Amino acid sequence: MIRKTAAVLAGKATGTLSRITRRGGGTTLPGDIARVIDPKILTRLTQDLTHGSVVITGTNGKTTTARLVSWLLEGAGHKVVANRAGANLIFGVTAAALNKAGPDGTLRADWGVFEIDEASLPRAIDEIQPMATVVLNLFRDQLDRYGELESIARKIEQALATLPEGARAVLNTDDPRVAEIGLSLQRPPLWYGLDDPSVASKTLPHAADARTCPRCGASLIFDAVYVGHDGVYRCPNNDFARPEPELKATDIELDGFDSLALTISGTRIEMPLGGLYNCYNVLAAYATARSLGLEAGYIAERLRTFKAAFGRQERVEFRGRHLVLVLSKNPAGFNETVRTAVELAGGKNFIIGLNDRKADGTDVSWIWDVDFEQLKGKAEIVIPAGVRAHDLAVRLKYAGVTAAEPQTDPGKALDLLIKNTNEGDLAYLLCTYTAMLDLRGELVRRGWAQPYWET
Ligand SMILES: [Zn+2]
Repeated sequence: MIRKTAAVLAGKATGTLSRITRRGGGTTLPGDIARVIDPKILTRLTQDLTHGSVVITGTNGKTTTARLVSWLLEGAGHKVVANRAGANLIFGVTAAALNKAGPDGTLRADWGVFEIDEASLPRAIDEIQPMATVVLNLFRDQLDRYGELESIARKIEQALATLPEGARAVLNTDDPRVAEIGLSLQRPPLWYGLDDPSVASKTLPHAADARTCPRCGASLIFDAVYVGHDGVYRCPNNDFARPEPELKATDIELDGFDSLALTISGTRIEMPLGGLYNCYNVLAAYATARSLGLEAGYIAERLRTFKAAFGRQERVEFRGRHLVLVLSKNPAGFNETVRTAVELAGGKNFIIGLNDRKADGTDVSWIWDVDFEQLKGKAEIVIPAGVRAHDLAVRLKYAGVTAAEPQTDPGKALDLLIKNTNEGDLAYLLCTYTAMLDLRGELVRRGWAQPYWET
């Protein structure tokens, strides 16, 4: 107990210091410090929660889904502790728990809602013992080039098999790799999926990894494709198919990045988030909230007033221009954000930002799997930006897209965008994680946006 209190105090002091010195919101360092003093600190702190925890993992959509679940719990009067966007390793989660702990070392909150990197999920389950564990999707990433996704998927499978009594796995049935995990579990998961052919395509985008049947190795047949390799699939030899979802979204309506509407088991949900990928996030949050006992009617009412998370989909206004910032970090994610911006929102002005720091993935060859061809003939200005702006420029050239001069300086990229965007028009910033941070940092410096730890 003394050790726990000491760990909490040391961690909190570190957090305060790094915030004062403005080292980016003090996101994970307090977690590192506290874990050195008490390696079981996260378990001890999450045991203080009066209701329990939810952990959310997957390649795309973690932050938005976690925000949605927090929003729903908070609206129902619960005090929620949640980790910050991007701080999704075990240290970031520990730091978040520390931040809400009192001087006596007790975490005073009802629920923990944590987004967890896929590779950290087994450890998070072990330390947090969550009531609900959500797996959104397992998409091809830069990781996949080294076969790591398969090994991570196997570890997630083993971890889910150890969930505590009464805990539930909440799984996306439309993702073949996630379904394979769920089918192996003794206790049935809560399956969710989309069910609306009007928003589906028939073929996989070339970026999606073609999935094979886990039983016989045959190529899966897709009757509907929603996002990446997520859709309605079956093996031609009839030994594997998409499990029937218990909760499904029907009657989907999309309006660019602005809003979406869908029906889940008779409940109509309308909300200020756009894009088909967000239908998955909303459905996952709905399924999680239902599994925790929230009422369908309440969920629908509360979601109407949701505000999007930093960088995932943020709007910044400057001199009458509307900048929309959307995080796009891998081929599946990029294809969806480009498609949404071009086809649904009619976007014409773009910054595409690519960095190669650790958080972005140091190997940027995946940009050749993104269908930038979607921009051809539709976009009026496309500015390649970020540390690897020149690689992006080459990729855009091969896609037949007429792009502006590559801009490695975020300030110059923004100036060029503003110069080429009329007042009242929208411009889209589609960027990898640290490229987004760089552009956003420049927006903050110019007073166009708030520092993210103050929002
Ligand atoms: Zn098969």
